[in-house]
Amino acid sequence: MSAAAMLCPICKLELVDDEPGQRLCARCKGSWLEPARLTALLHAAAPHVVPLLSVDSISDAALPPNVAAKHRRDCPICTLVMRSGTLFAVLVDRCDAHGVWVDAGELSRSVLAARRHDRAR
Ligand SMILES: [Zn+2]
Ligand SMILES: [Zn+2]
Repeated sequence: MSAAAMLCPICKLELVDDEPGQRLCARCKGSWLEPARLTALLHAAAPHVVPLLSVDSISDAALPPNVAAKHRRDCPICTLVMRSGTLFAVLVDRCDAHGVWVDAGELSRSVLAARRHDRAR
């Protein structure tokens, strides 16, 4: 992949490297994850339900129109509008081709929910 700048879908600031496959916006603390990175995080949190869990576990969310109007997120790579979805009741945005955007704090909420889901089995 090229090293072209990737911009935060919310702040339009350049995302900085966080972990391999993961970038962070220094202002809003949202995170961009490549699909393999998200799968790895979920797998670490919930080893019993993975490999069922992956980016494909994200189901489309029907947002109320007033929320949807404010919630638009563009993919930092292809700049197409991402689809909103839920992952363990946490709202995430997904570009089918490139990865997933999670707002600040939502990634850890989702990972915690995955862990609870795993323990419940
Ligand atoms: Zn941001
Ligand atoms: Zn994309």
